[in-house]
Amino acid sequence: MARRRQLYEGKAKTLYEGPEQGTLVAYFKDDATAFNAEKHDVLDGKGVLNNRISEHIMLSLTKIGIPNHFIRRLNMREQLIREVEIIPVEVVVRNIAAGSLCKRLGLEEGLQLQRSIVEFYYKSDELGDPMISEEHITAFGWANPAEIDEIMSMALRVNDFLMGLFAGIGIRLVDFKIEFGRVLEDDVMRIILADEISPDSCRFWDISSNEKLDKDRFRKDMGGVVEAYQEVAKRLGIMPEATQQKRTGPVLVSDQS
Ligand code: 5GP
Repeated sequence: MARRRQLYEGKAKTLYEGPEQGTLVAYFKDDATAFNAEKHDVLDGKGVLNNRISEHIMLSLTKIGIPNHFIRRLNMREQLIREVEIIPVEVVVRNIAAGSLCKRLGLEEGLQLQRSIVEFYYKSDELGDPMISEEHITAFGWANPAEIDEIMSMALRVNDFLMGLFAGIGIRLVDFKIEFGRVLEDDVMRIILADEISPDSCRFWDISSNEKLDKDRFRKDMGGVVEAYQEVAKRLGIMPEATQQKRTGPVLVSDQS
């Protein structure tokens, strides 16, 4: 394959120049990081699974009219995406208390929230992605009020859809992080969903056992990380062939339904 120009190397993905104007190639790595990259490991097969899971979710979102950057999957580890002007804000939607929400407010993990909560964080590795408000976003010019409304509305639509999708396969959608970007279409600037949606960026709990099926297994040294991602892919009906070989690690999930 011809060498492509690398544009950006992130913790879990590398972005290359795409074959056509306005496109990029996202390469999904096996690297896993947590706590602002203080913890790092390479998890064999994670990139392949996230590429497939994110593809499946983005295509499903396209079908219900949520515009996103996904164009098509190129191979096991790469997908072609639209180039966007990324908005430097991580949008987190929460349905159940976990992670930093519990830490910040002293809540017990697993508390069902009365309503879904949308939070914003400034995308900055140096600062450790600090939490911000709409006021910060507009004051620093990261997005205008109309764009924030659009982002909030899209984030809640994504949440409604994903909650239903995952409930149907016995998984509770605890929370997730998404990102948005701008694209110019017919001289109009539009906001579309960008980045990935995968067990790296979501918390998934098995409905019957509450077993964690996401990156918290890595963050908390629970083991069975790739097996958990495989379980999510299997339930979505998209288990990639290359990761289907028998593994010798612990058997993670017993489907009790
Ligand atoms: P928390 O704020 O509780 O750490 O994370 C909330 C949700 O957003 C979790 O599902 C977590 O995986 C996701 N999330 C938060 N920050 C990041 C990030 O920088 N990268 C990724 N991949 N996911 C994140």
